[in-house]
Amino acid sequence: MARLELRNLHAEVAEGDEKILDGVDLEVESGEIHALMGPNGSGKSTTAKVIAGHPAYEVTEGDVLIHLEEGEFGDDIEIDEDQRTWDLLDLEPNERAALGVFLGFQYPAEIEGVTMTNFLRTALNAKIEEREELFEDEETEEEEEDEGFETSPMEGPADEGEIGVAEFQGILQEKMEQLDMDEKFAQRYLNAGFSGGEKKQNEVLQAAILEPSVAVLDEIDSGLDIDRLQDVSNGINALRDEQGTGILQITHYQRILDYVEPDHVHVMLDGKIAKSGGPELAEELEDKGYDWVREEVYGTA
Ligand code: ADP
Ligand code: MG
Ligand code: MG
Repeated sequence: MARLELRNLHAEVAEGDEKILDGVDLEVESGEIHALMGPNGSGKSTTAKVIAGHPAYEVTEGDVLIHLEEGEFGDDIEIDEDQRTWDLLDLEPNERAALGVFLGFQYPAEIEGVTMTNFLRTALNAKIEEREELFEDEETEEEEEDEGFETSPMEGPADEGEIGVAEFQGILQEKMEQLDMDEKFAQRYLNAGFSGGEKKQNEVLQAAILEPSVAVLDEIDSGLDIDRLQDVSNGINALRDEQGTGILQITHYQRILDYVEPDHVHVMLDGKIAKSGGPELAEELEDKGYDWVREEVYGTA
């Protein structure tokens, strides 16, 4: 079980002083689905980007924390008592990913000649290596240095724990079946000629492969036709049900919430969470829009 916690988060545009986030408080635990809703320009995407460490924004106050439990990353990774809570704001984006936080929009641009399979395997191995580095204790480091003199580079510890091509094929196949995806997807070149909907499905596949503790998905429903929306939604539900991933589902529209039912719904207004509730809150927003929340919170529309 892990918990992502935003605490009194304030952020502004890095170049300039326009304030965007004005004290966001939010907690997402593994296994939970949270919908973050709100009108355009309220700060939803900025929240996601700040969690990811996007350089366009400067955090002026508050924290982004991840709390881990002892066995969060399996038996191979020992998480000491003093390694349970990390301040993501002190860490690089790849370190944040290694701590179990997945940010959908980091999805890469088209890269020539790289298949989905290769890209995903590289991403998974990078995560494994980064995670080992973060949790490596000093004793192990010394032992490995000693070993280094006795082993040849070919069989040395460098590639230990790396997932090879054959093993990865098995993982990929299992995940694609879980997500009900066409096998041919994986053989295609990264993003080349992928439709909007296919890119979104690949984003979910990436999350399935990396098995994050918490995934932040920004507007993954935008521009999807109903069939593709259902496929993507099934995939998101599988992330939660099969691997216990907590989901922060950022969306302007209620539509996807018919398929991915949230445990908690939050409404963002002017850079903070103005109201939180259960799934019924999303339905109320569908019926009445966002203005009534503003009226309720500020007493004016
Ligand atoms: P949402 O995702 O809820 O629609 P955003 O987080 O994208 O909202 O944007 C919130 C506000 O911050 C908007 O007014 C937007 O114009 C402004 N904003 C976001 N990013 C930048 C940026 N890089 N430079 C200037 N203004 C920005
Ligand atoms: Mg947005
Ligand atoms: Mg701080």
